Amino acid sequence: MYHTKSVTELSAMLQAGEVSSVELTRYFLDRIKNSDEKLNSFITVCEEQALAQAKECDERLKAGNAPALTGVPVAHKDIFCTDGVKTSCASKMLDNFISPYDATVVTNMRAAGVVMLGKTNMDEFAMGSSNETSYYGAVKNPWNLKAVPGGSSGGSAAAVAARLAPAATGTDTGGSIRQPAAFCGITGIKPTYGRVSRFGMIAFASSLDQAGPMGQSASDCALLLNAMAGFDEKDSTSIEKAVPDYSADLDKPLDGLRIGLPKEYFAHAEGGMNAEVEAIIKTALDQYKAMGAELVEIELPNSALSVPVYYVVAPAECSTNLSRFDGVRYGYRCEDPKDLNDLYTRSRGEAFGEEVQRRIMVGTYALSSGYYDAYYLKAQQLRQLISDDFKNAYEKVDVIMAPATPETAFNIGEKSDDPISMYLSDIYTIAVNLAGIPAMSIPVGFSDGMPVGMQIIGNHFEEARLLNVAHKYQQQTDWHTTLPEEFK
Ligand code: GLN
Repeated sequence: MYHTKSVTELSAMLQAGEVSSVELTRYFLDRIKNSDEKLNSFITVCEEQALAQAKECDERLKAGNAPALTGVPVAHKDIFCTDGVKTSCASKMLDNFISPYDATVVTNMRAAGVVMLGKTNMDEFAMGSSNETSYYGAVKNPWNLKAVPGGSSGGSAAAVAARLAPAATGTDTGGSIRQPAAFCGITGIKPTYGRVSRFGMIAFASSLDQAGPMGQSASDCALLLNAMAGFDEKDSTSIEKAVPDYSADLDKPLDGLRIGLPKEYFAHAEGGMNAEVEAIIKTALDQYKAMGAELVEIELPNSALSVPVYYVVAPAECSTNLSRFDGVRYGYRCEDPKDLNDLYTRSRGEAFGEEVQRRIMVGTYALSSGYYDAYYLKAQQLRQLISDDFKNAYEKVDVIMAPATPETAFNIGEKSDDPISMYLSDIYTIAVNLAGIPAMSIPVGFSDGMPVGMQIIGNHFEEARLLNVAHKYQQQTDWHTTLPEEFK
């Protein structure tokens, strides 16, 4: 039925009048109603609003000249502000927050004709790799309900993998699009920093945060990115550069493509890649070779620094960003505060979860006088070295390929008491955010029934190339169209 169709196919059916947006929206709302109890992938479902939007879209389609995504239902991560709709960031702090405006991503997608099904679950304030830090409870992986879907965009990943939504939005600060995409067997792309507006996207670490699409395939992600990307004067870090048509070059042949393989990412150090995951990645690389690509070993010598650098920079920025949640202006306020200080400390203490509080404390410490030079400034210097590693690599290669994660999805509860081991699940994704470059994850096989994701990393503004490289592989394989048994 409709859930086995890609966004590209659904869009063609809508344009041809073979299905109406109302019908399609109802179909996915029913799927959510019938199946999301198992997954917990949505925080809010916008039934009434979605059907009203779908009706409008049907009129637009009838009038002719409607943009490609008109009438396609999509879910938004609950980090994006949505006018008149609860925007919680999966925190008790914002459990009562109804946003008075739309994030630019939401506005852009709405203008492109997308219908919003609802808001997806996530790690609290996007801090996590397993979706277990959500105030609304853990999300389950559709491939194994005992496993995590990854995080922080775990709700979006699970919803798309189970086809409760044809596609979704996500955000990626250190891996939050790519790691859950890998764990759930879907395709996701984190664009270049500044490509997609951050306006109205609740800030975690402002110099790293970037939004992107999570979908069934590279061609679907191209369509969605066409709608999401673009300059926005409301975001001072948004880049004024024309957005290419990401769907235009999907079919370009890969002859002569130089693929860099970072030797540090394939090394068998402790905490390194699982052997079966590695074998699956190698098979995918062989397929690229057969398509005419050349595999080149490269070095990213400062790779080992990326996790420690990130865990100074991200907490530092989050500690300042989250200072706005003070119990005064919006969100949760404690009962009967004694005085102003009590109001601040109890509101924040009662409404922020453990991981969020840990990050705020680490960040405040790193930024405090006397420690700033030793931690934050040092981390910024190292960040430059990590960035230079990629710059040097792109003099020799066109794209870099690497695992997305060291292992497949782990079980719920397995790492929740061990922050360091949780942090290490982003070991292959974090450097990309520090360098501000684009990267995606595509499904390349299964290990013990669980999806394996491969990362394709590009130079700044090379999204079109990444999507092309991913699309060529997906034309030859069907990992991305395989559905979990329970959601077929
Ligand atoms: N897992 C990483 C963290 O916990 C990355 C999260 C993200 O990309 N939002 O910070």
